[in-house]
Amino acid sequence: MADRMLQFVAVPQRQPEKRGAADRRQDHDEIYRDFDTAQAETQSGRCSQCGVPFCSVHCPLSNNIPDWLKLTAEGRLAEAYEVSSATNNFPEICGRICPQDRLCEGNCVIEKGFESVTIGAVERFVTDNAWEQGWVKPIRPSAERTASIGIVGAGPGGLAAAEQLRRLGYQVHVYDRHDRVGGLMIYGIPGFKLEKEIVLRRHALMEQGGIVFHLGRGVGAQDGDREIAFATLRARHDAVLIATGVYESRALGGPGAGLPGIVKAIDYLTTSNRLSLGDAVPAFDSGELDAAGRHVVVIGGGDTAMDCVRTAIRQGAASVKCLYRRDRANMPGSLREVKNAEEEGVEFVWLAAPEAFLGDDRVTAVRAVRMRLGLADATGRQSVDPVEGSGFTLDADLVVKALGFDPEPLPALWGEPALDVSRWGTLKVGQTSFMSSLPGVFGAGDIVRGASLVVWAIRDGRDAAEQIHRWLERNAAEAPMQVAAE
Ligand code: FAD
Ligand code: SF4
Ligand code: SF4
Repeated sequence: MADRMLQFVAVPQRQPEKRGAADRRQDHDEIYRDFDTAQAETQSGRCSQCGVPFCSVHCPLSNNIPDWLKLTAEGRLAEAYEVSSATNNFPEICGRICPQDRLCEGNCVIEKGFESVTIGAVERFVTDNAWEQGWVKPIRPSAERTASIGIVGAGPGGLAAAEQLRRLGYQVHVYDRHDRVGGLMIYGIPGFKLEKEIVLRRHALMEQGGIVFHLGRGVGAQDGDREIAFATLRARHDAVLIATGVYESRALGGPGAGLPGIVKAIDYLTTSNRLSLGDAVPAFDSGELDAAGRHVVVIGGGDTAMDCVRTAIRQGAASVKCLYRRDRANMPGSLREVKNAEEEGVEFVWLAAPEAFLGDDRVTAVRAVRMRLGLADATGRQSVDPVEGSGFTLDADLVVKALGFDPEPLPALWGEPALDVSRWGTLKVGQTSFMSSLPGVFGAGDIVRGASLVVWAIRDGRDAAEQIHRWLERNAAEAPMQVAAE
């Protein structure tokens, strides 16, 4: 079957078809269509089956990419799914939202000259097809264990850990202050990148596999109706994993920064996602978080900013501008998303930063200043300095702050000063043990590494689960634990 591979010279790269921009603006559905089986097989056949696959080296999950590409090219789709899902809990999600240009595809050796293999699109196809064929099954552990694990946070980090621990037979309980599972995959990332149904079907599958979810139950300092005390959680479970992500929005300074009409990106996106899920959101009905008919200015240059500008377009904004203090080449967000945003009608104002927000009882304009890039610092990042006398004003009756996120102060919020955090507020854990300063309490995902990616949260969740298992086994060896056959 080797003749099916190495086709990159003869077969050009084809990404899945993208819906036209005018069509995309009308709804919050995904913009890329699925590969069909023939396209997936043909595109997989472009892989040159490298002896040292740099694609895998640069995938945070070390996915066995050449193997599942070969199986797909050969039409062995059930096996391709087995291989792909062995290292990734949510391959169809990573296939959709990983920044492949910076990870696997950006490091594909045929990228130079021939354009990379479309790894993400094939990964998505393989798992979507597996769902359609009924090959994606709930977990059935071969034996049940009595030990229980409490996981705080139902984002990708917590969910990946929950699956891995449940596979080993543990009693797994996941607590989340939200009413739905998925973390930022459900309430942060918009449907045009990741349709909500993809996340919801994973939730249902995990429940069928015996993972217990306690939704609308935040962890805090004291027990209450909607909250469970961290101390109670520790007493209830043999081990605890903290996977709470980062939610403290960075503040915006300058005169007028507190005016009504200036909103946080997380509130804006959560509202939009809730509406897509059919929820009633009073803050939207009052017009506070609705871009319809408004001149919208989004401040920031990361993935969150890209998601906000594209959401505003879909809500029918009169104009949408993205204000970023560096240039296109130096922005943290994915260039693929900038292109998508531009196609949909977003205007980027590069090298510009806000100075003040104008308006009496509501924001009406942003006064901004041009910036110039200066010398690089020790990290290689260029400084940015304002250009004197370059001030200008942009109309704005909705301003969205998308400047990034920091961790919430967990030790104070949870009444547990012994929980060590770094000077940035991220949870301190052992590099290989994933254990925090408290015995039996582990950490994973954004709360440990700071705002990152879904694929890294999955990786951390899997690694933390393995360390929790080892720690419980070690403890069990000292005081034998009951292991009951199913
Ligand atoms: P989260 O996904 O944040 O989940 C944490 C969960 O913990 C949440 O459900 C929260 O409700 C819960 N929680 C928090 N505190 C408590 C508490 N006290 N008690 C109970 N529950 C609690 N990554 C990509 O790879 N691709 C993208 O395209 C992408 N786009 C993004 C767009 C936006 C707008 C944002 C904000 C992020 C994006 N990311 C993207 C980053 C990615 O979503 C995160 O890195 C990832 O979700 C982190 O996973 P996590 O499990 O650590 O945390
Ligand atoms: Fe690429 Fe992400 Fe899939 Fe890894 S998980 S192969 S980085 S799309
Ligand atoms: Fe195939 Fe590219 Fe990976 Fe090589 S680097 S194995 S060509 S996908």
